[in-house]
Formats: sequence, structure tokens, C-alpha cells
Amino acid sequence: MLTAREPLSLAPAVAEVFETVKRRNPGELEFHRAVHEVLEIVAPVVERHPEYVEAKLLERICEPERQIIFRVPWTDDRGQVHVNRGYRVEFNSALGPYKGGLRFAPNVTASIVKFLGFEQVFKNALTGMPIGGGKGGADFDPKGRSDGEIMRFCQSFMTELHRHLGEHTDVPAGDAGVGERELGFLFGQYKRITNRYESGVLTGKGIAWGGSQVRPEATGYGTVYFVEEMLRMRDTSFDGRTVVVSGSGNVAVHAIEKAQQLGARVVACSDSSGFVHDADGIDVELLKEVKFVERARISAYAERRGSRATFVPEGCVWDVDCEIALPCATQNELDEEHARRLIERGLIAVGEGANMPCTAEAVKLFREAGVAFGPGKAANAGGVATSALEMQQNASRDSWTFEYTERRLLEIMRSIHATCYETAEEYGMPGDYLAGANIAGFVRVADAMLALGLI
Ligand code: GLU
Repeated sequence: MLTAREPLSLAPAVAEVFETVKRRNPGELEFHRAVHEVLEIVAPVVERHPEYVEAKLLERICEPERQIIFRVPWTDDRGQVHVNRGYRVEFNSALGPYKGGLRFAPNVTASIVKFLGFEQVFKNALTGMPIGGGKGGADFDPKGRSDGEIMRFCQSFMTELHRHLGEHTDVPAGDAGVGERELGFLFGQYKRITNRYESGVLTGKGIAWGGSQVRPEATGYGTVYFVEEMLRMRDTSFDGRTVVVSGSGNVAVHAIEKAQQLGARVVACSDSSGFVHDADGIDVELLKEVKFVERARISAYAERRGSRATFVPEGCVWDVDCEIALPCATQNELDEEHARRLIERGLIAVGEGANMPCTAEAVKLFREAGVAFGPGKAANAGGVATSALEMQQNASRDSWTFEYTERRLLEIMRSIHATCYETAEEYGMPGDYLAGANIAGFVRVADAMLALGLI
């Protein structure tokens, strides 16, 4: 399944831009659809701003400032040579240095990196922090690789990428397949090649070497904070609610943790091999042990939980009933069928912890049914916002406490929620967070680009 967001007809002013994007990026369906969502929603905004049209802002915003594609050769533990393809798409630097994660996964393509980079531009703008947007990665599968293989891959990847980075130029972080271990190897190689201890060049670093408190928790916690705000607007909360979280990586685990702290019962989570149903509520400490310490599959969690939990191999976690759905795994994981069934079974809210995990058709159903829908660009912006806090700490050679950093994250998520909510009202679409997020993010980037001249 491809990334699918509403392939509706576009207003003539933006339809032409979309044709150009398709012509310039043939076959890149994930990227086309990410662009389509933004173009469709901002069309009425552009009509109100003739200066955007005159300055060809849409054309410029859809074209990355720079795209880097490179070879990554490395040797495995048996001495066998492998060749992967590395990417960094430096999409937009109107608001600050390019900022966005690196993803290592076998399905990484130019289309995936561009779609994620494009989303990142507007997400980062929504945080209100001085960060532009970019994304990168490689079609490298870290599953089953030893620490030594991972290190050699990261070193080879950074040997090329380092020349494009800098704390004021481009600041990567982690994403799927890239966590603290990988960032350590990447930072070590950057430091070695440049002979600079430039902490602010990467975020998501370990606490012992320039990282920030709360960065590992930030995306998951932030998603829950965003949903909490949506629920508050409806005079309700997480307390006593049944929640399903997909995935069991960094985002999912911390979403589970925060939802439970707020009184929810998280009854299921998943990985690519299937899902775990745990009616008493997931034991998050055990889950962390299995996923982060042992780096094992989720079935190991069910085995350790004994009769309380069931592992459903190949099963889909969205078959489990819930009132709040937090898709935190990957793009296009929750489709129309799942959405329809969840709505029938009493779903009230969705918060996208991953980037575009719900298909266009699913999103349409949620919006029509009046389910509170927090799109990824707003709901999962807590991760990158905390990366910006890490950059601030690095720039001032300071480190903040967990409590202070978490309070900053909470304030940022509340402010993103308020921005989306108010923008949707302003444009006559009350309660439509998808519209609010896209319009508010777009206007911030567009106004900065206009001010900076023809760039
Ligand atoms: N990869 C994360 C995202 O999708 C975090 C990016 C960052 O911290 O720079 O927003």
C-alpha cells in the first residue's frame, strides 16, 4: 500500500504546481501524496494571498533546496562487501538549519525521504522554533546486524554525509532504525573527520555526550500531550480510557508510558511480526527491557507476561477495540477498513505518533465521524521540538533537568495544539486539526521565504 491521502481534485491555481511536482519526481507516489495534502488544504489560503502566487511560493516550497544521494559501502562480520544507498534531502532552510531525522530501513527510497522531508518542513514550522526541514537515511536493514556491522555502516555513511552537515547548516537526528547507538557511531565519525567537538550537529545524543533529557521520550509523550489537549476541548481525558498503540519502538513505548501515567489502559502494541494483546494493560517496564535492552521481538514480551498477554503472529493491532488510537509504527498502517471498524466500536480520538500512518481514506472517515484527529505534523512534533531544545542546550554549553525540559515540551505541545485549533477556526473549519496544522505550518514557512527574497 502506498501513502494515500485524499487524491481529490485540486483548485486550478495549485493543480499546475502538482503537475510539475509529478513531472519532476516521476513515480514517487509517497512524495506526490504528501504534497497533494498540503496543496489541497492551502489552496484557499493562496487565493487570499496574491503575493504568494506572484513569487511562485508553492513551486519553490515543493522543490527541495538540495538533494544528496550517495554510495555507502561497508563490510559485514564475515568480510563480505555490501553497498547501500544513502540520502539527505535538505528541503527548506527559511526558518533555520535543515533539521530532521535519518531513517535506516530496507524500504527507504528517494520518494520516502522526500515525503518525510516535506512533512518535516511544516512540522518544524509549527513548533515555532528556529529550525528548517530535512530528512535522510539509507536502504540499510539494521535487523539482525551486530554492533560492529552497525558501526561500520554508520562510519561509512558519515564519511560522505559529514561534508554537508554543521550546527548552523544541517542537523540530523534519529528516526526508524536510528537510535542512540547509531547516533553515537555517527557523531564519533563526524568528530574524527572534522576534528571538532560540535555537539549541536546531531540531536538525540546520549546524556553523557551532549544529549538532552526527555529527547528519547519526547515524540511519544508529545503525542499524548497533543491528544490530551484535543480531549480537553471535548471535556474529557485519558483517564479510564482504553487505548491501542501500534509499534513498539521509541515513539510507541513512550506514548504507552505517558498514556498510562494519565490513567489510560493501553491494551495492545505491535511490531512487524504481529501484535500483543494485554487486557490488564501493557507492562511498560517489561516492554522496555525486551525492546531496548534485549533488542528482541515483541513475542518475547508475551512469553514473559505468561497467561496475561497473547501474541497474535501476523495479526493487525487495529483489530483490537479502543477509544483512543495512537498509530506510532509507520506510514499507511491504518486503513479505511480499520477506521470504519474502530469508529463503529466507539473510537473518540486518534493521534499520529508516526508520520502519515493513517491512509487518506481513513482520515476522511475520522473527520466525517467527528473523531478528534491529530495529524502527525502536529501530534508528533514533540520529538523535533525537543531536538531544538537539545540544540539550545548545546549552544549554551548547558544541560537542563528532566522536569524543566518536560515542562518545556508540554508548553510547546499545548501551543502547537492552540495554533492548529485557532487556525482551523480562522479559516472556517472548526475542530479540523489537519487543516489547522497544514495552514499554520505553511503560512509560517511561506512568510519567511517571502521576506528572504527569491531563494
Ligand atoms: N525523526 C523525527 C521526526 O520525524 C525527529 C527529527 C529530529 O529530531 O530532528 O520528527
